[in-house]
Amino acid sequence: MSDNEDLPVSSQPTVCVTGASGFIAGQTIRELLARGFKVRGTVRGEVDDSQYAYLKQLPGADEGLELMRADLTQPGSFDTAIAGCDYVIHAASPYLLDSKKPQEELVDPAVKGTRNILQACANVPSVKRVVMTSSLAAITDEPDDHHVFTETDWNSKSSLTRNAYFYSKALAEQAAWHFMREQGLKFDIVVLNPCMVIGEAIGPGLNSSNQVIRDLLSGTYPGVMALNFCMVDVCDVARAHVLALDKHEAEGRYICYSEAMSMGEIVDFLREAGYSNYRLPRRDMSAGWISSVVKLLSYTQPSGAGDFIRSHLGKTMRISNAKIRAELGMEFRPVRETLIDTVEDLIRQGHLHKPEA
Ligand code: NAP
Repeated sequence: MSDNEDLPVSSQPTVCVTGASGFIAGQTIRELLARGFKVRGTVRGEVDDSQYAYLKQLPGADEGLELMRADLTQPGSFDTAIAGCDYVIHAASPYLLDSKKPQEELVDPAVKGTRNILQACANVPSVKRVVMTSSLAAITDEPDDHHVFTETDWNSKSSLTRNAYFYSKALAEQAAWHFMREQGLKFDIVVLNPCMVIGEAIGPGLNSSNQVIRDLLSGTYPGVMALNFCMVDVCDVARAHVLALDKHEAEGRYICYSEAMSMGEIVDFLREAGYSNYRLPRRDMSAGWISSVVKLLSYTQPSGAGDFIRSHLGKTMRISNAKIRAELGMEFRPVRETLIDTVEDLIRQGHLHKPEA
């Protein structure tokens, strides 16, 4: 890992981080600034808007962070932000589990935005590497009890009518690899495929994955279902982005995954960890016949939740994180520690209210 802090500010490498306001991007920017990179973050709103104050307050942000406006849906929008950068971390993508217009709201921004960004990189000589935040969603949208998923797997089951967010991620990553093959470019691309990312948020927003943990504690689930969650700490994902950018030998795709826990295991753990006063689900709905009822009822749920239940219920996801451990030297935090951090952060940020005594 290079230590850029020793370099004069003018010669520190500059990284453009797309979607700087996002959950993963925020922690990645914090990590980059701590390691002495200069950061150009792109946001959709006015750069001086108070909604981005938390980014400007990060240690090192005064000298090291510049925000610029860019939108995935506008061709050429990222040209100015990317010009002169050494690296690009492409994290922006709509992360919506329920969408009524999946083509417009998910697929178009994810796919066209990825192409726009790679085209902007191709237009300038300075960019050496793009690190793209893809997802486990591009690897699979359905656990398989008999298969360990690796970087060689591709999600070919999702569509506009089945796990549309997963579909957008698979298409965007395919578009990126296709672009790289077709154009014969001077820079390379390294892709990260994180599973469900939870943990401490730098900004005040509630990310969809932390929301799953909030919902578990706030009575949203009628019971404990036969679902498995593959999780990873957001700080580990941020570190993986910096390693992927900085390690010359990094290549291809990297699954970012710490551990899986069933919904029942998470609920039991949180109850024992001191959160038994919260509205954790009690009813066991994991038995085979109840799962069949849950599957039927899933058709009454919003499309994203319903699709997810039908493709995941009763199945155990098996994933290998061997490649990222071997090639990037990543070690992952135990998920139980991350769960505690997540809950404490949800309380601190006001997303989860302490139950009345
Ligand atoms: P997030 O907090 O919702 O961040 C998404 C970011 O994308 C936001 O900064 C958002 O900007 C930006 N964005 C969305 N549409 C845009 C558009 N049209 N133009 C420009 N920017 C746009 O989600 P996240 O969890 O940090 O996700 C970051 C990346 O990680 C995404 O690519 C996501 O698919 C991937 N990922 C997430 C997880 C997870 O569990 N969280 C797991 C695997 C992969 P605004 O703030 O303006 O909306």
